[in-house]
Amino acid sequence: MSLERVDSLCTERICLAGPMRRRTAATAGALTAFLLAGCTTAAPPPAPQAPLTAPPAPAGPTSPATRTATTAPAVTWQVGARPLPLRPDGFGEVLPTPPELVNRSLPTRDLLPPPSGTTYAAKIAEVPADVLQRSTWQSACPVAAKDLRYVTLSFWGFDRRPHTGELLVRQDAADAVVKAFGELYAQQFPIEEMRITAPSELDAPPTGDGNDTSAFVCRPVRGQKNWSAHAYGLAVDVNPFCNPYTKGDLVLPELATSYVDRADVRPGMITAGGPVVRAFTNVGWQWGGNWTSPVDRMHFTANGT
Ligand SMILES: [Zn+2]
Repeated sequence: MSLERVDSLCTERICLAGPMRRRTAATAGALTAFLLAGCTTAAPPPAPQAPLTAPPAPAGPTSPATRTATTAPAVTWQVGARPLPLRPDGFGEVLPTPPELVNRSLPTRDLLPPPSGTTYAAKIAEVPADVLQRSTWQSACPVAAKDLRYVTLSFWGFDRRPHTGELLVRQDAADAVVKAFGELYAQQFPIEEMRITAPSELDAPPTGDGNDTSAFVCRPVRGQKNWSAHAYGLAVDVNPFCNPYTKGDLVLPELATSYVDRADVRPGMITAGGPVVRAFTNVGWQWGGNWTSPVDRMHFTANGT
């Protein structure tokens, strides 16, 4: 579910924005996720693709699915629908990438109205109460709500259409994020989805197939007590599935094993010296793909962690 479209993993040192959650309170977490899923999505089964705050887009004359019927990639995979068997460490089993996702190109569901034109549009605003409420922010987080900003910006989907994404970032990082994603937009770099991580995602059973691009997530570094850079609103994970985190035999998302092969460059992948690394480097951010262990290819950080 969108709930499960998880992922914003992170690193051992840092964290995953979404699915990388710690799996310690598995039972309670699964229960919570189950209950939340039941409350937030009335659509098809575990309705993994349903956005948290908006109902599934009906197939109407103006829906993206109808609009792009002849050009949009077909929906061949329901994200978040298949919980994985768990490893002893609480992550899902690392499995071969399903054929449908080896060259991943899923259409974007519009959570927010898409831009009317093709010009890059971005807005930085204080975080609306309803947005804060559906985020993972709480008073114990290391950043005050007043210091976060709600950023909405244009991005190109794998469906070759512009969409509007949403991110929460710390105030002093907002301009850099807008600028970096502006460069990606100019390059028409494809991004599958960009929405705020919901609390339920932190404890949902792993499905290993999320690909949400996200920033702020209030969680500690996995297995540690210190906060992740995401918990400060100072990190962004870009297309997690196309740019997996690896450490030892762990791959996150767990089904993204095909994308560990970086020689087979496919759309949405971040390459050394490529447009995504260049865009974030230009605003002074660092890339986790340069690390040696873990290698966190999806991760860009303003504070180096
Ligand atoms: Zn990250």
